[in-house]
Amino acid sequence: MRRKDGTIKALSKRAQGVTPSATLAISAKAKAMQAEGLDVIGFGAGEPDFDTPDNIKDAAKDALDAGFTKYTPASGTVELKNAVAARFQKTHGIDYAAENVLISCGGKHALYNFFQAVCDPGDEVIFAAPYWVSYPEMVKLAGGVPVVLETEEADNYTLSPDAARAAVTDRTKALIVNSPSNPTGTMYSLERLEALAELALEHDLYVVADEIYDELVFDNLPFYSLAALRPGMESLTVIFNAVSKTYSMTGWRVGWTVGAAPVVKAMAGIQSHSTSNPTSIAQKAALEALTGPQDAVAVMRGAFQERRDLICGLLDGIEDVTYARPQGAFYVFPNFSAHYGRELGGKRIESSFDLADYLLEAVQTAVVPGGAFGDDRCIRLSFAASPETIEEGVGRIAAALA
Ligand SMILES: *Cc1c(COP(=O)(O)O)cnc(C)c1O
Repeated sequence: MRRKDGTIKALSKRAQGVTPSATLAISAKAKAMQAEGLDVIGFGAGEPDFDTPDNIKDAAKDALDAGFTKYTPASGTVELKNAVAARFQKTHGIDYAAENVLISCGGKHALYNFFQAVCDPGDEVIFAAPYWVSYPEMVKLAGGVPVVLETEEADNYTLSPDAARAAVTDRTKALIVNSPSNPTGTMYSLERLEALAELALEHDLYVVADEIYDELVFDNLPFYSLAALRPGMESLTVIFNAVSKTYSMTGWRVGWTVGAAPVVKAMAGIQSHSTSNPTSIAQKAALEALTGPQDAVAVMRGAFQERRDLICGLLDGIEDVTYARPQGAFYVFPNFSAHYGRELGGKRIESSFDLADYLLEAVQTAVVPGGAFGDDRCIRLSFAASPETIEEGVGRIAAALA
């Protein structure tokens, strides 16, 4: 109910503390321009541009026809939990049981449940900037305190174990490792992962392993899971993954947590009073994704790798732009800060937000400002787009800066 003066009764401090998505303004503007009939090139997509594979869609249709349309256990079906555990056993050799797995409504929901389950007010969570946009907000929503450590291109934008060690206090609850990373596409070296594992063991810290891009790794690079790197890490590491990115299933909303049974149980308790189970038929589709043929994943990975090569080659042709070469996912995070301070389109470019605005207005090219990820020197370009779009879009950026 609105009061006469247009105000409303106060919202919670929690809600007021949430930073609205900084990327929203620019994507709203891009959409408005598209609606006006302008030819807007989009580098903003945070999802694969492929359709969900047919075998997976068929599994959902079959589930629907079979009447699999009722509540499942709030923490997900046992068959899907077992499939998740079996997959982990196959890739990393650790035996988890169904009690170590929680099925949630996407990877984001799984992460949200985790911070709700482990953070008391004032508990600190360490992670690197640039970071995935939801980490700081999720930590804050749980009453926790984000401890953000800046990283450098030369380090592949990965957390330095020394810097992480220096940031540990008696309030530190967890550290987050996202490899391959959104927004940079870069991965942690085995050496860094091992050092972080040792740090976690030494200080008894949870490690949030956001492994959402574990199947989208290029150049046949090995993927290491923190849980498997040191004895004891299987119970400190809490692994997050989903069908969203690997199988091009962002809209289906199925993700999972794998970790120590007490953590998983606490998270499941929270989930049981909020969303309950993820959609029953989406769980059947996810089961097919995990247990059916995997050729579609290889095809998508190959396409993303080719596009990575393409976009990097094009970026190399723009003066004063540097980047860390993506090793996975479908993002590159080039540093355009050498262009800050320039007067372009009648305005001084002072930040990634100014640059994103300018590119959208001057050459109808939508990018995500790095400031949204905690690094204002860069912008994020998603290469989950056709080669033609990538060529045209980077060409436009180059022209806008020439
Ligand atoms: C996409 C993404 C997620 C979770 O995605 P869902 O759509 O919720 O499954 C988690 N972490 C990162 C880094 C992501 O990019």
